[in-house]
Amino acid sequence: MLPSTITFLLLLGVSNGWPQFDFLNQMGFNGGFNMGQLPPNSPPGSRPGSPFGEIMGNIGGMMKGLTDQIGKITQGLDVNNDLGKMAGGPPPPQNEWMEHARRFCRRFPGHPKCRGQLPQFNDIGSMLNGILADTGKWLPKVPFINIRDPLAGINNDLRNALAGISVQFGQISQQFANNIKVRKVSVRNIHTCFQNICQRVNCKQQLQKNVQMKQDILKSTVAFEKKIFGNDVADKMNMRFDRTLQLKQALLEKAQLKGVVAPEDNGVFDKDLLLTETQANFMLNELGKGGEGAIPLPGSAKAKRASIFFEQNIIQKWPITAPIPYTFDSSLDNLDQNDVRGAISEIEQKTCIRFKYYATPPRGNHINYQKVNSPSFCGLSYIGRVEPANPVYLSFQCGNGRGIAVHETMHALGVNHQHLRMDRDKHIRIDWSNINPQQYDAFVVADSKMYTTYGVKYAYDSIMHYNAYTAAVNIAKPTMIPLVNQQSNIGLLGQRAKMSVADVEILNKMYCKAAGCDDKNVYCGAWALQDLCNNPNHNVWMRSNCRKSCNFC
Ligand SMILES: [Zn+2]
Repeated sequence: MLPSTITFLLLLGVSNGWPQFDFLNQMGFNGGFNMGQLPPNSPPGSRPGSPFGEIMGNIGGMMKGLTDQIGKITQGLDVNNDLGKMAGGPPPPQNEWMEHARRFCRRFPGHPKCRGQLPQFNDIGSMLNGILADTGKWLPKVPFINIRDPLAGINNDLRNALAGISVQFGQISQQFANNIKVRKVSVRNIHTCFQNICQRVNCKQQLQKNVQMKQDILKSTVAFEKKIFGNDVADKMNMRFDRTLQLKQALLEKAQLKGVVAPEDNGVFDKDLLLTETQANFMLNELGKGGEGAIPLPGSAKAKRASIFFEQNIIQKWPITAPIPYTFDSSLDNLDQNDVRGAISEIEQKTCIRFKYYATPPRGNHINYQKVNSPSFCGLSYIGRVEPANPVYLSFQCGNGRGIAVHETMHALGVNHQHLRMDRDKHIRIDWSNINPQQYDAFVVADSKMYTTYGVKYAYDSIMHYNAYTAAVNIAKPTMIPLVNQQSNIGLLGQRAKMSVADVEILNKMYCKAAGCDDKNVYCGAWALQDLCNNPNHNVWMRSNCRKSCNFC
């Protein structure tokens, strides 16, 4: 996708529209879902038919690989999952129960059963009930972030040029609203589409595959950071996943779908992205959720505000004064390693970016490629450079492992999905009537304050585009339809054969320009795409503020 800008509620019955909780089904242990109803969502990447942070602690001994220890830490990773399993059996010894209860209340301090007390074993149902609907109210407060408006002080002409495309994060775009000819009620239209689907498909139930996927990722991420930090990071990782769930809930709320749809609680955003807590908090602030939650996080009680400025963004680029270090987890066999090497080689051949292999994980930021045997996804990655290091998870079960490795590596470099660009509604039509509502987050246009196009044109053949049938309820019908040359372009969507010209261009713009060649505004890319770089009314301003997007350097 786009280059970065361095770019629950205790539910007692059905009165609020949510069914009484059946936590065994919800947790996925009874297999309560009829697979015949499921949209067979192809994972991303598959085609239908086709300055450094310092690492603390001991990092020695990582060579042995991460998967070796995963089996030992399964128990206790996710308190919700443990409680779900426990619910079917006899009560555990009281001291053991109290440990679970305390951990639950640490995680959900706002839960009614945690207010000035600890919940009892027979509270399990009400403890877990509603987490999927309204976890935000129970979690610790979302810290406030001061987000500067990139359009402050920008003249009206340039502002107007963005009308309809620089929409507030989570708003339905003007373009879409125009398409359906009902301005202002476009949200209602999506609401109607989804409600119709939800009459046929259970939009509130978690599928076993999502429960499993979250567990798989949790195990891997906890093992990865534990090896680096040397201490238990399960609570921290659960918090990340809880914030991701909260973000998905907030987006549904914005689309007036709260109470209609429960998002997939699978640990990821947009099907293949892992979010840091900061990234999730930024987007939650954009959705007006700053300050939502139970009690302030330690240290953030007095409005510990962070300001986000362009070029110091929450999506971090890698310094390329030295090659980017990478390493393989022992879970990769030789063929898997070849796929990744092929991906790295392609990026090196087409850009100035260089990588260096380390047999032992190096100190400091690096990319660690890991294999996760999961049928639920093709690849997963954080977006941009993250602390303490970037794991990239690949299942090698989707065909074209090399192309998928390119896609995930580009995420790690800071590039987002093509079909989530702010101008995507000019290039593709989204068929909301065929989208699995539980995957709504995969179609929400990315936050325009976080990402820029750098003036690179939309590309149907981008390796960062999802396929045309992503999240389809009826898999015979596409969910994304090209607006130009539909017949020929629809087959390009989701290609993983090679980087497109546009993918190469975006990486070169992000990483390969001389020092000082930059944009001073996140919207430069959008203005450049509207041919304003050489517009007599704007060229002076553009020449000094949008040098990179305008190709002035
Ligand atoms: Zn992706």
